[in-house]
Order: sequence, then structure tokens, then C-alpha cells
Amino acid sequence: VTIAPENRHVLIVGIDGVRYDSLVAAHTPNLDALARTGFIAPVRVDDRNPTISGPVWSTVATGVYRDRHGVHDNDLRGHRFSAHPDFLSRVRAAMPSATTFAAAAWGPLVTAAAGGPVFAPGGYRPGLPAGAEDGDLATIAAMDEAVASRAARALLHENPAAAFVYLVLVDMVGHAEGVTDRYRDAIETCDQQLGVLLAAIAARPTRDAEEWTVVVVTDHGHRDAGHHGGDSDAERTAWMVAAGPRIDASVAARGVDHADIHPHVLDVFGIRPDPEWALEGEPLRAP
Ligand SMILES: [Zn+2]
Repeated sequence: VTIAPENRHVLIVGIDGVRYDSLVAAHTPNLDALARTGFIAPVRVDDRNPTISGPVWSTVATGVYRDRHGVHDNDLRGHRFSAHPDFLSRVRAAMPSATTFAAAAWGPLVTAAAGGPVFAPGGYRPGLPAGAEDGDLATIAAMDEAVASRAARALLHENPAAAFVYLVLVDMVGHAEGVTDRYRDAIETCDQQLGVLLAAIAARPTRDAEEWTVVVVTDHGHRDAGHHGGDSDAERTAWMVAAGPRIDASVAARGVDHADIHPHVLDVFGIRPDPEWALEGEPLRAP
């Protein structure tokens, strides 16, 4: 049975700053279940990108690297997103009746903050809770919770063809205190939030007639003492978990890249990339 493009859906979950070795050591039953039906693989941050959130998330979104999308750090001004649009924009352009969804506590992904948004359609960013201080870890945790719950509502009750949901607590803990027990706890919290998103998808009344692809990805690692931006293996080793009817686990052996996500999203919907886009990656299926 072929499921029509309008009944196909993609959820990309971005979890910032999660070391691969820390992920493997943490208790993450929801990620493990996804990996069993698809794959988990380390992702080397391409040498054209620094191990910094802005450039790498821009590669996830656009399918090209810093030399072309023009994002060099977390100030996005000077970007070339009009020439290299994000995958949500490309899905909407190719499928005019399709809707998309995005949510993130880090403003530049979904709002005009710092020259954003990376995802041109914009999206939900939770406001700071009353009396909270920006950057305080409890505040960040509350904002991630708001992102996860708003996203779960969208996945259950709305009908986004493609969605990008982003969680930032792990990276903020890494910056605050390094790769500690609390860093691992934050990874486990993200896994629980992923579980809520997957439960929302499973509970859709029309789920049996739908095809869903889920990709969970981080942008970079952290040094032991916290922080990133350098070229150590701890910083350059990211990872990806992907599952769905068009995901071929054998691609984990050929090696997967941040730039593969954009072409995979297009591939799900049968959108043929224009050769002029010169996407850097390949769909996550056998050639
Ligand atoms: Zn980051």
C-alpha cells in the first residue's frame, strides 16, 4: 500500500550539544526504541562547519554548509537563507496545501532574534516565565517543557507535514558545569520529552493511514569541562537516530551527515531537488 504524499509526515527533533558517548551511557528508552526500528549513528561535524550551534543547525535546515549558507556563529546576520531555504520552506513551496510546525526555546531558530529565523516560516518560542532570569537552568528546563508540550499538541491535533522541534537544556547544562551527572539527567529528560512527542503521533486518530519518519539529531558535543567550538573528537562527534518507512539502516555504515536531513525530508514527499540547489547530502535510504 502506497501512502499518498499528503498523508506522509516528518518530525525532526534537534537536541543541542549532546555528546555521543554521553548519549550511549544514558538511559534513553525512547531513542533506543527508534534506533531499533531504524538506526543510530555517529555524525562527524563537517570540517566546513565549526562546532557551533548556528552553523550546524543551519546545515540541518538548508542541506548546505557554512561556506554557502553564510552562518559562521550564533549571530546569523549575513546569512544566505534566501538562496538556501530551510526544508520546511521547501515543503511548503512544493506542496501549497501543506502546513509545517516549528518550536524552539533558542530564538534564532524560529524568530528574528540574532538575524534569524533559520526556519523562515517561524514558529513557537515560549516566553520567559514570570520573574525568571534568561539562562537560569530551571528556566531553560521550563521552556523546553513548554516546547515539548506545544509540539505534542501540534502533532496530535494539527496536521503538519513536516515539523522541527528543538530542545536546549543539555547544552546549557554542559556550558554551566560540563559533562556531569546533571548533564546525563538532562539527556534523560529530553528522551522523556521525545517519548511525549512519539505518544502524540501514536495517538493520532488517522495514524494507521499515515506514514511517519522521525529523525533525532544533535549539532555538536562538549568538552569534558563544558563548552564547544573546537576540533576535539568530543566536540566534532555528533549523532543521529532515524526511523521510518524510507529510512535504510544500511546508510549508517556508509556514514551519515547533518546535510543528509534536508534531502531526506524532500525525498519523503517525492520532491525532486533542483540541481541548481546543489544540496550537499543524500537521502537516508539506499541509492
Ligand atoms: Zn549547539
